[in-house]
Amino acid sequence: MSIIYSESSGENAISENVPRTPGLQSNEDGTSTTSTSSTVRCLDKSTSTENSASEEFVSNLRVPQHTVDQETESACGPNLLPRDSLNLLENCLPQPDIDSNYDVLNVENVDSHMNFSSDSSEDSSEDEISLDEDLGKWVNQFNIPHNAVRDLLAKLRPYHSTLPKDPRTLLKTKTDYNIVNLAGGSYYHFGTENSILVELQSNPELDIAAVQNVTLQLNIDGLPLFKSSNAQFWPILARTVQPYNSKPFIIGIFLGEHKPTNVQEFLQAYVAEINVICESGIKVPETNHIIGIEISCVICDTPARAFVKQVKGHSGYYGCDKCVQRGFYINHRITFPDTRANLRTDVQFDEMIHEEHHIGRSPFMDTPIGMVSQFPLDYMHLVCLGVMKRLLWLWTKGPVSVRQGRQFISCISRRLADITPYVPREFLRKGRSLNDLDRWKATEYRNFLVYTGPVILKGILPTDMYNHFKIFNIAIYCLANALFYRHYLNFAHELLVAFVDQFGHLYGEDQYVYNVHGLVHLADDVARFGELDNYSSFPFESYLGQLKKLVRKPNAPLQQVIRRLSEKKAKFVQSMYIPLSGSVKKKHNNGPRVNEYQLYGQYQEITLTNMFISIKRGDNCILSGEKVGLVRNILSPSEDSLERIFVVQWFRGGQSCFYCDPLHSSDLRIFKVFHLNDHVSTIQMRDISSKCVLLPYRDQYVAIPLMHSFF
Ligand SMILES: [Zn+2]
Repeated sequence: MSIIYSESSGENAISENVPRTPGLQSNEDGTSTTSTSSTVRCLDKSTSTENSASEEFVSNLRVPQHTVDQETESACGPNLLPRDSLNLLENCLPQPDIDSNYDVLNVENVDSHMNFSSDSSEDSSEDEISLDEDLGKWVNQFNIPHNAVRDLLAKLRPYHSTLPKDPRTLLKTKTDYNIVNLAGGSYYHFGTENSILVELQSNPELDIAAVQNVTLQLNIDGLPLFKSSNAQFWPILARTVQPYNSKPFIIGIFLGEHKPTNVQEFLQAYVAEINVICESGIKVPETNHIIGIEISCVICDTPARAFVKQVKGHSGYYGCDKCVQRGFYINHRITFPDTRANLRTDVQFDEMIHEEHHIGRSPFMDTPIGMVSQFPLDYMHLVCLGVMKRLLWLWTKGPVSVRQGRQFISCISRRLADITPYVPREFLRKGRSLNDLDRWKATEYRNFLVYTGPVILKGILPTDMYNHFKIFNIAIYCLANALFYRHYLNFAHELLVAFVDQFGHLYGEDQYVYNVHGLVHLADDVARFGELDNYSSFPFESYLGQLKKLVRKPNAPLQQVIRRLSEKKAKFVQSMYIPLSGSVKKKHNNGPRVNEYQLYGQYQEITLTNMFISIKRGDNCILSGEKVGLVRNILSPSEDSLERIFVVQWFRGGQSCFYCDPLHSSDLRIFKVFHLNDHVSTIQMRDISSKCVLLPYRDQYVAIPLMHSFF
């Protein structure tokens, strides 16, 4: 069994300013202690209060009490927006006269988290192309129906006689394909080797002759097609994670009125190919050299994972993928209260030692893929749509003993609205009211959990629940952070075990459900595959959404997808190219200028590979070392220049921690800030450590580094 350990940049790893042992630890006498080390002093008056409150939380882990935080205000507390200080802050400098309206992000142009490089025609770097190629690209980009294309071609042909009459000729639509009937539906196989080669060949930045090995992630999931019928796709997807992170691509697709009735039939062609390419590699036609193929992991939601592994589902007594405990039936659900049960192993799975866990033989057992170790629990479904959604549901609609009432909902909703102007472009959605909770997307739950929740809930949620949520937030922030996760792996694991242990005490013994319990296994997967977003369903879900849009009418959806994808492969090679220096846009003349760079052009925004920075609120907060500041202008000799200068107004020294337990927030580069300097200074792009979310908090602000923007 081959296990692929994800590489990450370790150069910037935290060292001395990390607790030697996790902040939450049990002494031999059973009491708990907290870590106190930090490189940043906590200067605010609330530090001692927070420390004692936190210590009380730790010592009270076993006896939760529903007391409201001392900071809780009578109604909703002081407005989260420090309006006076905001004005002060924003008025410290003459502001450029720039339209304050926020750009509405075209979600279609952005990958699941923060890939600004995809799908944008403006980023394209290709050389001159012909009219029909250009038209084909446009048709695919905007998903233009064929009858409209046919009409357009008829109008253009008198002026451009070389254009074809038929849109299928223009788009090189595949008209010869072999759909087979299997597993109670129909199936088309694009082919693993072919799909990998198309992906590699479509990357203009890749020197394919230099590629020796490719590592793949696989994904299998169901995709309902129409509300009015049971028709559903079961696409088999993959993406490369070495030598680069690609967008997902399709290998095979099943169409039926239900999921495939026979998993062996469904995956037969796929598994056979996996075995061949893992054994022999794939041959590149242009160079005749062989590229070795490895499988990193298979990413699925819980029902799909149980289906392809042929094991009991999350509602089975032996439903945990990772440990052998027998669940308990409480209030019509299966619960898994044991956080330290014996773990399953690949060998035990292959030998089917725990018979009660299996419902059949998985076709993946005939591949080199580890049936336990290489089927990670998915962050998007388990954490965001699982536990975070459950917590919000418990607080708003749960049993009377834990529900927080209408005032809580209106208060949180108001705070969510208040922070809207501070939401960075990477969030995709600006945050909706708790009244719209049923319509929240996975990214909204993620943003609430990782960034906004701790600020929004503080002072409103009862202290025991808030502190419980906070350790969940910190653990996930650590595990989702490319810079921190290795260092905090054990710490985050202990936090999650404490969080799960307490979940039942706070919210009821019937809440130890599969998703909540699964958190205790999360750190093991992170150790194997890297930070949480490195192996999540987010990019695959994004692709499935695009796949669904290819179906324009109910008739023959499988044929439609095959044709549309063949057109995209022929015409719509997506560029991943963004210059190392970033792409500057929106030239202006409003300053502030700096004498040294008088002749440089001024720009409002810059798109980098891993972040978007603008001089507008929400996208202008950056971290450099441990200094937080606001970008006031972006200077460059020209759009093509490698030199980018950022004019920054820094927050004054004395930045303090937002929390000090179970570790100092400054250890995670999270700071409370307030006073801005009166003057600006300049830094180079290489001096930026990360972009931050800057959230108003009482009369101050909390700066939280965006996890994927670390340099
Ligand atoms: Zn388990």
